[in-house]
Amino acid sequence: MSVLVFVDHTQGSFKKKAFETVNYAAETAKRIGGGEVVAAVLGTVSNDELNLLGQYGATQVLHLNDARFDNFNARAYSKAITAAAQQCGAKVIILSYNVSGKSVAGMVAAQMKAGLVSGAIDYPTTDNGFVVKKTVFSGKAFAFVKVTSDVKIISLVPNTFKVTKGEGSVAVAALNANLTDADFGVKKVSEDVIKGEVPLSEAELVVSGGRGLKGPENWGILEDLGKAFGATLACSRPVADAHWRPHHEHVGQTGGTIRPNLYVAVGISGAIQHLAGVNSSKTIVVINKDPEAPFFKAADYGVVGDAFEILPKLTEAVKKFKA
Ligand code: FAD
Repeated sequence: MSVLVFVDHTQGSFKKKAFETVNYAAETAKRIGGGEVVAAVLGTVSNDELNLLGQYGATQVLHLNDARFDNFNARAYSKAITAAAQQCGAKVIILSYNVSGKSVAGMVAAQMKAGLVSGAIDYPTTDNGFVVKKTVFSGKAFAFVKVTSDVKIISLVPNTFKVTKGEGSVAVAALNANLTDADFGVKKVSEDVIKGEVPLSEAELVVSGGRGLKGPENWGILEDLGKAFGATLACSRPVADAHWRPHHEHVGQTGGTIRPNLYVAVGISGAIQHLAGVNSSKTIVVINKDPEAPFFKAADYGVVGDAFEILPKLTEAVKKFKA
C-alpha cells in the first residue's frame, strides 16, 4: 500500500520540514505494512535535490517539472497532488500542517473523497482501525480520530519529530497532471523574501513580543535578545495588526503554528488564541509584569517583572553564557 507525501520546496531547495514529512511518511508506511513511499514534488527542482529525498525515506519521486508551480497556487497544487495519488495508487497522503499544506489538504480530501486528519502529532495506529492523534481546542486536549475512508489524508504539525537521515536512493518519474491555464487563475505579482532568519515554522528558538512592549520603537531590546539566542522573532496578533511587526511573525490561531524547543514570550498576556499557535513548544518562558497573566499557567519558567528592565539583563546573561 503506497504512501504519498507532498514535499514543499523553497525556490528549488528542500527545508527541514520537508524532510520531516518524508521521514514521517516512511515510518507510517512501515507501520501500516510496508509499500512505496512516493514523494510528489511540484515546480523547478534539480535532480540532485530530488535525490536527497531518498536519504529521508522516499523510494520514488513523482516530479511535475513545470515552472508554473514555482509559485504556490492552491487549486493547481491540490489537483496535482490528487493526480499524483491516483498515479501511484496511494491509500495514505501526507502533507505538512504549514500554510500551503493547510490550504490544499481539504481540497485534496474533497477531490479524493478522503477523510482528513489535520494537525496530527503522532503516527497512525492500526490496532483498532486507522487512528491518528491530533490536538483540539487550541491545544488544550488531544483527539484520536478514526479515519474510515478508503484514502486517508494526514497533515503533520511541523517540528513534531526529529529529522533522521539515512542512505537510501530514489527513482524519479514524471508526474502527469493535465492542468490547463485556467487552473493557474491566481498569479503572484510580487514577493518579499525574508533573508537571513530561520523561518518561524522551522525555528528551534523563538523570541516573541506582545502589546506589553508598547510600540515598534521598543523592538530593539527584543531583537537584541533574539540575536543573543540566535532565535527567530515572533509576535502576538495585535502587534501585527497594528503594523508594529510584519504579519509573517504573527503566531496563534489565526497566524503561524510553531513547536520550537524554546519559546520566550515577552509582554504577551497568553490569550487562548495566542496559545493555540505556541503551546506545543517544548519549553515556554514567560516575562510579564502582571503575576495574574494567563500565560504563566502554560509556562515552564516565568519571570514577573518589567520587560524593559529584564530583557537587557537577560540578553547580557545569554551573551556571557555563550562567550
Ligand atoms: P495584551 O492582551 O494587551 O497583553 C499585553 C500583556 O503585556 C499583558 O499581559 C501585560 O500585563 C503585559 N505587559 C504590559 N507591560 C509590560 C511590561 N512593561 N513588561 C512586561 N509585561 C508587560 N492573538 C494572537 O496573538 N494570535 C492569534 O492568532 C489570535 N487570533 C485571534 C482570533 C480571534 C478569532 C480572536 C477573537 C482573537 C485572536 N487573537 C489572537 C487576539 C487574542 O485574543 C488577544 O487579544 C491577543 O493575543 C493579545 O495580545 P497581547 O498579549 O500582545 O496583548
